[in-house]
Amino acid sequence: MKLNKEDIKKALSTISVAGEGQNMVESGAVQNIVTFGDEVIVDLKLSTPALNIRKRAEVDVMKVIHEKVYEKAKVEVKVSVETSSSQKKETNEIKGKPIPGIKNIVAVASGKGGVGKSTITANLAVSLSKLGFKVGLLDADIYGPSGPIMFNVANEKPLSVNVGGKSKMKPIQSYGVKMLSIGFFTKPDQAVIWRGPMAAKALNQMIFDADWGELDFLLVDLPPGTGDIHLSIMQSMPITGAVVVSTPQNVALADAKKGVAMFNQESINVPVLGIVENMAYFTPAELPDHKYYIFGEKGASYLAKDLDVPFLGEIPLVQSLRESGDIGRPAALQDDTLLSNAFLELTRNVVQQVVDRNENLPETEAIQITTMAGCSAVNK
Ligand code: ADP
Repeated sequence: MKLNKEDIKKALSTISVAGEGQNMVESGAVQNIVTFGDEVIVDLKLSTPALNIRKRAEVDVMKVIHEKVYEKAKVEVKVSVETSSSQKKETNEIKGKPIPGIKNIVAVASGKGGVGKSTITANLAVSLSKLGFKVGLLDADIYGPSGPIMFNVANEKPLSVNVGGKSKMKPIQSYGVKMLSIGFFTKPDQAVIWRGPMAAKALNQMIFDADWGELDFLLVDLPPGTGDIHLSIMQSMPITGAVVVSTPQNVALADAKKGVAMFNQESINVPVLGIVENMAYFTPAELPDHKYYIFGEKGASYLAKDLDVPFLGEIPLVQSLRESGDIGRPAALQDDTLLSNAFLELTRNVVQQVVDRNENLPETEAIQITTMAGCSAVNK
């Protein structure tokens, strides 16, 4: 059963949020509807934080979809509360704040851990550098920062430098990429302390109190999932767009879809540049022409089509990619190999999407600054 957004919208327009006269579509409470097969995610924005109204709205949405659209639909309702006008102003100001010298900020996300998000980010960074762009990588994966290992700089610590009378953190440079990672400031067994506001504060320092210099692209390796830390990051940085990584496996796809829904939420409104399929097929080194679809075939490209977002490319499951990550020499550094070519194609698609995005983006307040900067970055 494939659910249809219009049917769901029609069903939702027959109910209203408690205390409001208009139905929830007309009142603007329904922010977004994402469907995938028999699953649907409905984003609601309510003007009141009252728990009973929130719960009631969730139940009503589920009920009406089951009754009027499809009784076996798997419904997820995400509720956010509209901020007061003064709070809203503050958020927009923070979000719109550009980082001097940084032209495009691309967040790399995954719904599920272990799908290869950090591997993709590292190789994307190296490929962008090979194409001549100035690249930075902010490893914000507070649960498993792997940037320092992947770039073979695990024993280094960023130095403090004086920039215009202010002390700033200097990113570590490796393979042409400037990098800061939460891993430079924690020991592996300490990672658990990097939670919530504390992590957000540390990340803010790495964003605003760091000497990134001029960058065409700052890639941000986000933690897996869709949590508070994502919201903090997206509120503190004007993110140009997001890349979502998934394997073709159903469990990963279901979470990737939530990732896309998070970026699409009206209060976040970060354009999704597209989906990458990692571990798309297995290729043994001795049989380079053989493809084994061990996690399923083309799942992420179908998901992209279903969600109407670009499909950015596929990266095969190859033993040497794991090895190159472990020894700290990204596979994309090589020339004309199966992997480096796959990463190059992926990278070109990402750049293309950034160009398109910057050219076509409607002038929203939060993205405006990034848009202007971004055009000059990728078009020069
Ligand atoms: P995440 O950031 O999503 O948690 P990682 O990038 O750390 O995932 O990858 C998890 C593990 O899988 C790492 O050991 C990495 O080297 C390996 N890996 C990721 N993608 C591939 C691939 N396409 N082929 C082989 N190994 C991979």
